[in-house]
This record gives sequence, structure tokens and C-alpha cells, in this order.
Amino acid sequence: METKRSYSAPAEQVKGNYLFTRTGVAGDYEGSESRRRRGVEVADVVVIGSGSAALAATLSLARMNIDVMVVSAGNRRNEVSESMHGYLGHDGASPGSFYSSALDQLTRYPTVSIRSAEITGADGTLDRFVARSADAEFSARRLLVATGVEDLLPAIDGLAGQWGTGVLHCVYCHGWEVRGRSVAVLASDGRLPVGVAMRLAWLGCEVTLFTDSDEPIAPHTAKALRALEIATRSGRIVSVTAARGTQLVHTAAGSHPVDVTFVQPVPRPRAELAVSLGCELTSDGRVKVDAQGRTTVTGVYAAGDVARVDDHPPAGNVTAAATAGYHTGIAVFNDIWDADTQRRINQDG
Ligand SMILES: Cc1cc2nc3c(=O)[nH]c(=O)nc-3n(C[C@H](O)[C@H](O)[C@H](O)COP(=O)(O)OP(=O)(O)OC[C@H]3O[C@@H](n4cnc5c(N)ncnc54)[C@H](O)[C@@H]3O)c2cc1C
Repeated sequence: METKRSYSAPAEQVKGNYLFTRTGVAGDYEGSESRRRRGVEVADVVVIGSGSAALAATLSLARMNIDVMVVSAGNRRNEVSESMHGYLGHDGASPGSFYSSALDQLTRYPTVSIRSAEITGADGTLDRFVARSADAEFSARRLLVATGVEDLLPAIDGLAGQWGTGVLHCVYCHGWEVRGRSVAVLASDGRLPVGVAMRLAWLGCEVTLFTDSDEPIAPHTAKALRALEIATRSGRIVSVTAARGTQLVHTAAGSHPVDVTFVQPVPRPRAELAVSLGCELTSDGRVKVDAQGRTTVTGVYAAGDVARVDDHPPAGNVTAAATAGYHTGIAVFNDIWDADTQRRINQDG
């Protein structure tokens, strides 16, 4: 897929732009022409991914006249859901139309191009990075990795088919929509999501916490659950089925009807590309970045769910991912602007 459109601003508005005279837009560093002749796609910045982090970064770069190529494998983390919540101005929007509209706005900038491809490898150093897909190469001065996470669901039959619709994970994203309903909260991998159950009770849900175990709950936890009228069911969780608008949570001890189920998947950061470039990871496997999205490798940036600043919580929602992406885009711009401005000043004697 390729989309590139003319920008609607009148020509005279951009004519005097210093950046247009700096080198011509994009990729005019040594060797870029020979790469183009070999069929390699060349841009100042290649952004890998097209979620809110990637697209917000692209917007800030595009608005500073940086040649930016978005290369993405496709779907974003929340596109399994019918609606997206908590993003100001877009609360309740369908994720599909939200991302389409973002892409539509981005492709009005003349320096933005979009490519559909899965990047399978990346290497290089400052000014000479290369990202590769099965049948193409993308060369850039800077790389921005915004590849998100994969949600690893607990190994319980029936969850995958209902993921994002009848099986949810985030109370802030979807709690309001299920307020007052009957909700199952499932333990998994030995973790009892008491906080999730309590927040759903706060929203007036009739909550049942399934412990996936025959072990008794610790007395102080059991006391808190009783106080909030959260029911508990012990026994191994076997499956979650759905028929005619009702879910059944099947345990070793029996079947329990509910309206909707909450689980806590393990997020697996898609950090392989950053690792192959030499970037350090945090203890939870995310790409280690500073507050400006800089990784430990000069010229490689990361943003969104895949990245993390020290002990700060990872993004985890569209607002945080977009914010990180936008700021990272500005940092990438400043990096390029600084290098090119210095070069021009030096050339001038
Ligand atoms: C079921 C569900 C519902 C959610 N609902 C909400 C909600 O209502 N509100 C909210 O704020 N948040 C919600 N979230 C969280 C939100 O989806 C994420 O926090 C957000 O999408 C993170 O943005 P991102 O840009 O970091 O990653 P993503 O949006 O996941 O985007 C990652 C991008 O990288 C691409 N990619 C990955 N690997 C490669 C590769 N090798 N080559 C090329 N491209 C690649 C993917 O195709 C994708 O385009 C939800 C999450 C889930 C799981």
C-alpha cells in the first residue's frame, strides 16, 4: 500500500522554508542516491508501526518538514475492540475509523509516506540504519520503533475468541461500559487481580473473583473482598463460553453465568528489532528509553507500549502512547535539525 498526497498549503508558504534549502527534503546524506538506485526506500526517519505512538511521532515530524516513512504490519493492539475509550475528543470512537482518520490527516503532508510491510530485521548506525521486510529495504538516518506489545492470554479455552469484546482487561478503558453488570474476574498464572475486582465493584458491578485454585484466599484479602461484596469461586478455571448474550465461566466445581469477563494478559513487548540494533531492555523486556524516547543506541528511538522510561509505568493506553510518540517525534526532529544546522554553519566557514 502506498499513499502520498499533495499538501494543500500554497507553494509560497513553504518556499522560504530553510529546511527546503538545507539539502532538499530528506535522505540527502552520503550514499542515499546509490541506495535509491538499488531500489532501497530512503527517508530521514523510518517509523516502524502505525499505532498511536507511531502516528503521533509522524505528525510531529511531518509538521517540521522531515521526510518520514511509516512502515507497519497493520493492526494495532485495541483494534479487536469495537470502541475506544478515554482518549479525549475520541471517546467511544471505533479504533478502525480513528486510525484511518489519523492516516488520512498524515498523508496530507508531502513528506509522509506509508508502507505496509512487516519489518523482520534492522541494523546499522547513525545516519545509516536499514530496516528489512521480506521484499524491501528501508534506509533512514534515524529509526523510531513503535511496535507495541502482544497480549498473551491465559491458557483458558474460549478467551481468545472473545478477546476485546466479551473478554476485557482494562477497567479504565472498558469499565464504564459494563458498570452495574455481572462480571467475572479471572486469576491466572498464580496472580489474583484483586485491584481489578475492587475497581469494578466501585463501578457498581456484581463481581465474582475466580481464583483458579483450591488454596484459601489470604485473610486480609478475603476481608476486603467481603466488605466490597465481591463473591469468590475457587477451583481450576476450565473455559469461558458464550451463547445468546450470556457467558459461562466453567470451573472444576461448576458453571457460573456472567455478562462479561476480565482477565490480565501478560504483555510481551515486540522489542526484537530494537534488540537486534543493540538497544538495552528494561527488566520487563521493554525498550529502555529516556524521557525523549532515546534508546541506548544513538539514532534509535522508541515510544508507546513497547518502550519504558526507567521506573515509570509503561504507556498502556492510547493517550500515553500518543503523548510519548509526539514528544519522541519532536526529539528526533531536534536531533536531525541540530546535526544539519551545525553542518550548514560549518560549511559556511
Ligand atoms: C482489547 C484492548 C482494548 C483496548 N482499549 C483501549 C481503549 O479503549 N482506550 C485506550 O486508551 N487504550 C486501549 N487499549 C490499549 C491501547 O490499545 C494501547 O495502549 C495502544 O494501542 C498502544 O499504542 P502503540 O502505538 O504503542 O502500539 P499499537 O497500537 O499496538 O501499535 C503497534 C504497531 O506496530 C506494528 N508492528 C508491530 N511489529 C511490527 C513489525 N515487525 N513490522 C512492522 N510493524 C509492526 C503493528 O502492526 C501496529 O501497527 C486497549 C488494549 C487492548 C488489548
